[in-house]
Amino acid sequence: MQTRGYAAQSANTPLAPFQFERRSLGDRDVQISIDFCGICHSDIHFARNEWGMTTFPCVPGHEIIGRVEKTGKDVKKFKPGQRVGVGCFVNSCRKCASCKSGNENYCETGFTMTYGSFDTDGKTPTFGGYSNQIVVDKHFVLNVPENLDPAACAPLLCAGITTYSPLRHAGVTKGSRVAVMGLGGLGHMAVKLAASFGAEVTVLSRSPEKKADAIKLGAHEFVLTNVEGALSKLANRYDAILDTISAKHDINGPLGCLKRDGTLMLVGASPETLDLSPFSLIFGRRKVIGSLVGGIPETQEMLDHCGAHNIASDIELTTPEGINEAYERTLKGDVKYRFVIDCTKF
Ligand code: NAP
Ligand code: ZN
Ligand code: ZN
Repeated sequence: MQTRGYAAQSANTPLAPFQFERRSLGDRDVQISIDFCGICHSDIHFARNEWGMTTFPCVPGHEIIGRVEKTGKDVKKFKPGQRVGVGCFVNSCRKCASCKSGNENYCETGFTMTYGSFDTDGKTPTFGGYSNQIVVDKHFVLNVPENLDPAACAPLLCAGITTYSPLRHAGVTKGSRVAVMGLGGLGHMAVKLAASFGAEVTVLSRSPEKKADAIKLGAHEFVLTNVEGALSKLANRYDAILDTISAKHDINGPLGCLKRDGTLMLVGASPETLDLSPFSLIFGRRKVIGSLVGGIPETQEMLDHCGAHNIASDIELTTPEGINEAYERTLKGDVKYRFVIDCTKF
């Protein structure tokens, strides 16, 4: 199927219009016309090959909201016209222990990323949601609550699940004390979700102008981290810290803000290695863990939770022509708090 989108042709050229073929509808497939796609900072890392794993051309986009156009003959769960979502991956082995337990995101043979992987034939590149349509195996298609604004739902498919999953994993609940590092696309969803679980939330940020928003989003406190002595005032305070920062930064100071046995959960994927002093962990038996998006059952659980609690992303809508400017503004932290592309304009 001829598809229109935007692609990066190399790490240092702007994204530009690009036409490509999607596979035709298989028996288990859902054909989706894409309405909206969020711009995740991972798209920028990827399009600019900052993680050293990009093949070009690269059509980014893994925060996809659309409507079902057609379904293959083995698809019963989805009907034409239904609102659906697609997140960061579109296939996995389905046989390993991770896949069998609904943790497809930790597939032991590696899942098929929505973009930047090869399709089941092993040679056709996967292209993402900066496009007008996509064909996806039914297992990787999600139901999206109809009561939420569809454009504002797009970021739930990555920013939402990437913050929901580790917060749940850490047992964040009523009365937990949680800090969120970095108030961007992921960070603002982390604040909304942790607050919806009943946690007391602090935002740790380098940007003073974000204070009022942080409180509006549900944070109880906002601390500027680039002020001398700011973190030492928070020593031994948090059960969990969710670190969403996209570039190299200090984690040893924040680790000192954890209670004994507290956990710093890294989701931000700095291309540069972070420095970790053993003493930051030894004193207080603290932990650092990483977390990668979330499995399909948990992603559906997150979407249902958001539907029930009226939670969606704070977005700025843009057009295909606006993608390159949106990248620059995201890099400057100048977005409240996620760009979403109107994909009906491709
Ligand atoms: P974003 O919207 O650009 O937000 C990142 C925030 O980090 C910024 O708003 C800023 O917050 C802070 N920040 C940025 N550069 C910084 C620096 N040099 N020093 C200190 N703070 C800095 O990005 P995003 O879309 O939320 O993504 C964040 C990171 O998560 C990216 O690396 C992305 O690739 C990664 N990610 C990981 C997963 C996963 O599964 N683990 C999934 C999606 C994304 P303040 O202005 O408040 O300080
Ligand atoms: Zn993402
Ligand atoms: Zn697997």
